[in-house]
Order: sequence, then structure tokens, then C-alpha cells
Amino acid sequence: RAKESGRNMLQFFQDSMQEAAMERMLIEKELRQALDENQLSLYYQPQVDYHGTLMGAEALIRWNHPKKGFIPPDKFIPIAEECGLIQAVGAWVLEQSFIHLRQWDRLQVHLPHLAINISPRQFYHDDFMGILGRLVKQYQISPSRIMLEFTEGLLMNDVDVAIDKIKQLKKLGYTFSIDDFGTGYSSLSYLKHLPVDQLKIDKSFVEDITKNEDDAVFVGTIIAIARHMNLGVVAEGVESKMELEFLKQNGCLCYQGYYFSKPLPEDQFFEHWLRKAKQQFN
Ligand code: C2E
Ligand code: MG
Ligand code: MG
Ligand code: MG
Repeated sequence: RAKESGRNMLQFFQDSMQEAAMERMLIEKELRQALDENQLSLYYQPQVDYHGTLMGAEALIRWNHPKKGFIPPDKFIPIAEECGLIQAVGAWVLEQSFIHLRQWDRLQVHLPHLAINISPRQFYHDDFMGILGRLVKQYQISPSRIMLEFTEGLLMNDVDVAIDKIKQLKKLGYTFSIDDFGTGYSSLSYLKHLPVDQLKIDKSFVEDITKNEDDAVFVGTIIAIARHMNLGVVAEGVESKMELEFLKQNGCLCYQGYYFSKPLPEDQFFEHWLRKAKQQFN
């Protein structure tokens, strides 16, 4: 009997593994198509101060599949990363966001900085700096407006190579943020050696700050570390006034989350955030 159920179990795992592998292959194939057929787009989520004044934005990729509808990035970015398609997807994100930045500049609505997510394989690629360099030149974007976001996972590959590359890019003016800070496996000691500019508190911590004592302490500690090290700190996933107040009281002054705005398509971001910002400044 035990043998029988063991075999069933094995069969079950084999089936579901095969299913997952097929699903991956399908997504890979369809993502290639998506790149060719303009199914990808960029959304922008504002980053604001306590009063809701626009300080910057994060570009977030969206895939609108003709039959399946919106496929979340958490579902296809890891696959793109595995199969190497992230090179093409990443370059597309850079170019598309620069096109938008340039367009906004032309309309004289100035977005102070744009955060762009970079995945490990994209970052470590030999031509990453080359691509970035060609694109900022082509679209006349000052690198100081570009904040590159990466997760702690990027440091698992080779910290020394990573630090070296970050330093080179920082010399050119780019800034760096550690995304989902606190969710990775890295030790705190690496922070000392990392030339980054900002820590981004993961939304999973923010979510529970008003309910869970541990998370409250944790978020308070991240903010304290950031301030102590002279790093900026931004909280992601701010959904309520209570969370906002807690963050503010603990010294985090930059926020991103549904409480202020969901990520928006370019035209809506322009309409609801950039045009307003222009009026404020004039
Ligand atoms: P992330 O970079 O940590 O982005 C934050 C995620 O939190 C986004 O999910 C955003 O829509 C979501 N979010 C923001 N505020 C709230 C809130 O108040 N409540 C909740 N529940 N969620 C909130 P999204 O857009 O689905 O992206 C998921 C992840 O996919 C990103 O996490 C990032 O790791 C990856 N990703 C997105 N765009 C790109 C891209 O262009 N390139 C790369 N390499 N990765 C990307
Ligand atoms: Mg991010
Ligand atoms: Mg994040
Ligand atoms: Mg995340």
C-alpha cells in the first residue's frame, strides 16, 4: 500500500513537473511573439512625499496577451531571466521608458527621477553598460535621473563583479536602489561595501506594520539603518493612512503604493500626475 501511494506520489510530481515545463516553454515562445507584436507596455507608479507631491516614478512592465489578458510580471520575468530573453525584454524596457521620459521633457513636464527594475542576468551581461550608454545618448537622458533597482539576489552571483559594475555606473551618474530590501538571504555586512543610494522596503513588511509588532520593529530598523548609512529609503506597498503615518513617524519620507496611486499606463500617468506637477511648479 505504501509502495502504491509512493508510486502515485511520484507520478503526481512527474506530471506536475512536466506540466510546469510545458507552461514555461509556452510562455517563452509567446513572450518572443509579444516582443515582436507590441504586446508589452510600461506602467508608471508615482513615488511621493508625505503630502503626495510627485518625487519620481517606477516603471513596471505589463504584458497584455491577446487571448489570456494581462500576465503579471512575476509570472514571466523569471522565465525570461532563465531563458535569456530578459536581454531583449530589459533593453525594450530601457528604450521605452527613455522614449517616454524624452516625450515628457519635450512637453515640459519634468519627472525628477525614474526607477527601472534590472534583473541579474541583464545586469551581468557584457553589453549592459553599452546598451544603457547608447540609449541615454540617443534619447538625451541624464543618467542622474535613472535609478536602477535590483534585488539582493543579484549579489549572490558575484559580489565583487557587481560592486565593480555598480561603481562604474555610479561614476556615470546612475543611482541604485536595493529593491525588496530585507527579503533576500544576504547578510547585513554586505551593505557596508555596496555603493547604493537607496533601500526600498518590501511591501510584505509594510503590509503588516500596523498589525504585527515584529514587522513594525523590522521596518523601523530598516529605516534606521538607511538613515544611519546616509541612504534614501522608500516604502513600497503603502495602502493606508495608518501605514503612511507609521512610516513617517519612523523617518521614511518617500512612499509608493495604492494609497497614492496604482501603476498607471503612460497617458494616465501623464494626465493625473505629470500635468498636475507642472501646474504646481508654474
Ligand atoms: P517590484 O519591483 O518590487 O515592484 C513592486 C510591485 O508592487 C509592483 O508589482 C507593483 O504594482 C506592486 N505594488 C505597488 N504598490 C502596491 C500596493 O500598495 N499594494 C500592492 N499589493 N502591490 C503594490 P508588479 O507591477 O506586478 O511587478 C512585480 C515585480 O515584477 C516587480 O516587483 C519586479 O520585480 C518585476 N518587474 C516589473 N517590471 C519589471 C521590469 O521592467 N523589469 C524587470 N526585470 N522586472 C520587472
Ligand atoms: Mg522595483
Ligand atoms: Mg519591490
Ligand atoms: Mg517585488
